Amino acid sequence: MGLRIVMLGAPGAGKGTQAKRIAQVYGLPHISTGDIFRENLRNGTDLGRQVQQYMDAGRLVPDDLTCAIVADRLAKDDCRAGYILDGFPRSLPQAEALEKVLADHGTKLDVAVNIDVQDAEIVDRLTARRSCSKCGRIYNLKFDAPKEAGVCDEPACEKAPLIHRRDDQEETIRERLRVYHETTEPIIAFYERAGILETVSGTGRTPDTVFATIEETLAALVAD
Ligand code: AMP
Repeated sequence: MGLRIVMLGAPGAGKGTQAKRIAQVYGLPHISTGDIFRENLRNGTDLGRQVQQYMDAGRLVPDDLTCAIVADRLAKDDCRAGYILDGFPRSLPQAEALEKVLADHGTKLDVAVNIDVQDAEIVDRLTARRSCSKCGRIYNLKFDAPKEAGVCDEPACEKAPLIHRRDDQEETIRERLRVYHETTEPIIAFYERAGILETVSGTGRTPDTVFATIEETLAALVAD
């Protein structure tokens, strides 16, 4: 059975980490709008140039641009049997645009997983977050440091350097949190009304224990 999942939560709540694990376990494509934008930035594409100013300032990329990219991605063959959306939707217009794309495909979402983490912990996590420049694996210098400082543990990455995202600096983190509370948080109620919201606490919990809770929810859905 295909699963269509959206991951909700503040920046740094663990959406990406959990989405990658779910994608692996359930064999679903992991679609992260932040990853798509960062890849375009790295490759110097037109899209990269269009989104850079927003990302650097910790603001949202305009809805029409973001929604067009997601609609294109969801039309690809690998999305027919489900997918996991990470970092989209991030505003009510985006949530509504997604409903339209789903309806056009004759499908609907199965679940919106909301990882709830308190702001103070978010700031702590993001200032210490690093990611592998090659495979994207996420580390935290305080809770989940690499074995060797500054480089990825994965043998296949051959000691690729870890990077600190430009938008993971404290001032930008605070702006991203402000935007989250103002623009993104209202979509939690949107999915609650739709009856598909599952909120999981992430405060003070390890990725493994959060994943165990999410897996219980998904296992129940698959069994239905
Ligand atoms: P993320 O990696 O999900 O934290 O996204 C990094 C940045 O990309 C965000 O701070 C935004 O500037 C931009 N971005 C990612 N997803 C979206 C979205 N759904 N809508 C608007 N901007 C987005």
